[in-house]
Amino acid sequence: MGRNRTEVPEQERWNVEALYSTVESWKKEFENAMGAGEKGPRWPDLVSFKGKLKESPEGVARFLDAYFELERKLSKLHVYAHLRLDEDLGNDSLKENFGRISSLIHDFQLEYAWVEPELLSLSQEEFEKLLSHPKVRPYLFHLEKIARMRPHTLSQELEEMLALSGKALETSYKAFGALNNADLSFPAVENSQGEKKELTNGTYLLYMRDPDRTLRKTSFENLHSVYRDHANSICEMLQGQVQSHLYVARAKKFKDCREAALFPRRIDGAVYDNLISSMHQNFDALHDYITLRKQLLGLPDLHMYDLYIPLVEEVQTSMDYDEACQLVAESVKPLGEEYAVQLKKGLFEERWVDPFENQSKRSGAYSSGCYDSMPYILMNYHGTLNDVLTLAHEAGHSMHSFLSRENQPYVYSSYPIFVAEVASTFNEQLLLKLLKERAKSKKELAYLINYEIEAIRTTIFRQTLFAEFELQLHRWAEEGVPFTPTLLKEAYVELNRKYYGPDLILDGGIDYEWTRIPHFYYNFYVYQYATGLSAALALFEKASASEDAKKRYLQFLSSGGSRYPLDLLEIAGVDLKSKEPVDAAMRRFRDLVGELKKLLA
Ligand SMILES: [Zn+2]
Repeated sequence: MGRNRTEVPEQERWNVEALYSTVESWKKEFENAMGAGEKGPRWPDLVSFKGKLKESPEGVARFLDAYFELERKLSKLHVYAHLRLDEDLGNDSLKENFGRISSLIHDFQLEYAWVEPELLSLSQEEFEKLLSHPKVRPYLFHLEKIARMRPHTLSQELEEMLALSGKALETSYKAFGALNNADLSFPAVENSQGEKKELTNGTYLLYMRDPDRTLRKTSFENLHSVYRDHANSICEMLQGQVQSHLYVARAKKFKDCREAALFPRRIDGAVYDNLISSMHQNFDALHDYITLRKQLLGLPDLHMYDLYIPLVEEVQTSMDYDEACQLVAESVKPLGEEYAVQLKKGLFEERWVDPFENQSKRSGAYSSGCYDSMPYILMNYHGTLNDVLTLAHEAGHSMHSFLSRENQPYVYSSYPIFVAEVASTFNEQLLLKLLKERAKSKKELAYLINYEIEAIRTTIFRQTLFAEFELQLHRWAEEGVPFTPTLLKEAYVELNRKYYGPDLILDGGIDYEWTRIPHFYYNFYVYQYATGLSAALALFEKASASEDAKKRYLQFLSSGGSRYPLDLLEIAGVDLKSKEPVDAAMRRFRDLVGELKKLLA
């Protein structure tokens, strides 16, 4: 695929030299950071604090200074190694560098596993005294987060026992991963011309968007039939995973599995419940869209495998990359001069982005970096409209990182996963708005509207369906109900029926879809996709309407991880403990479906 990495001219590469001018200088700094060596503690100075944190708040402050300084150095080394490797995944020496820094970070985490238990062994009184000392003020929130776990921390002996079970408790998830990524293979599929095509989890997603209905149908059926053949084993893996969550929740005296998962980041269970109940109140909106989809595709009946095909063909833009950057920079102007100027600088002068494909470069797109680096962006830009939207998305992440790092000390510079997708989807909205204003044809406008509708369908509706199923699995385990394929299958189909309504035919293997979703092993993770997009849409609506709301949004972007996730969003002006943000997203969905109807009528 294309040119060799060494043939890519400087202007078309991200500026990794800003981190280390050469691999040699990286190696030098790596050797320096590596510490004492294989035997004994790598960083004896730091380990010398062990057992002494109780002695004085000054000591705690000195320890944390040194600890975070080292962590910061390691993360810089790590970012450089992973960026360089992603440029050329086939390069063995880059692979080796990446492996070395990864294992050094692993050592670092192991060597400091004692810190939290030791701090938690302070009595409540001692801990409060620690917190009130001026020397530890820079670490107040960090220490508060640790203290939060006190009611759910067991005696040292019991914590050690619990830790010993760690590897065993991972078995279900690992077994599913091995089955799903390595062992399972799928029978080849045929398109309407009778041509055979290879079916994998990767090609499946492509075929689901293919206009050839025979290809979609056979892919859907062949894929699910293989999972169906393994349903008993996978059901046990899921049961094992959920039981491991239940074990930890009960051992640590949480009310239930969900509380155990949400408690550390102080997410209220109401956030989860509101999300589900908002969906239930808006099922009719999704049903309506399914009916519209059936009409627009001109199909006598709509099946699961007709859900992903775009209703309108993508308009071929073949926009060149510079033009895309101009457009993205222009789209963020509503966020103010300062924001727009900084992004422009990043895209055009500082070379944040590695835009084009080359041989062995990592596929896809991401935003990455650390406290001491630019917020780099990896792309594989080909000039489609989706590519331009991806650039806007990643630029949103990068500006969030940039502003957080500029305005926060190292310890609070990374924002939590719960809020991570807000800035990226917000910027997609900004670009979509601009693209819609400039759409040259009805078709282009319809494509853009459908893009947004599909984002809400797949990110809010579908992920909430998953979240609801996941909650049900955990409730069953808590009540002692054993899992069987029949139980899971019936519950799963019922949920799909409620969400998609009467116009979607639930056949061809959808009853076994739950067997192939890795997210059900993630311990209450998926709902965050839905809340993230809802928050972004609600904030976009607010910030478009008032200057004050815009200011608050920018303040949120500068807040990094200095508070709990829900408090960060409250800075921005959205309260996920109320139903308002999800309801706003649902209103938006209805409006978009209405617009599409009118446009294509
Ligand atoms: Zn993202």
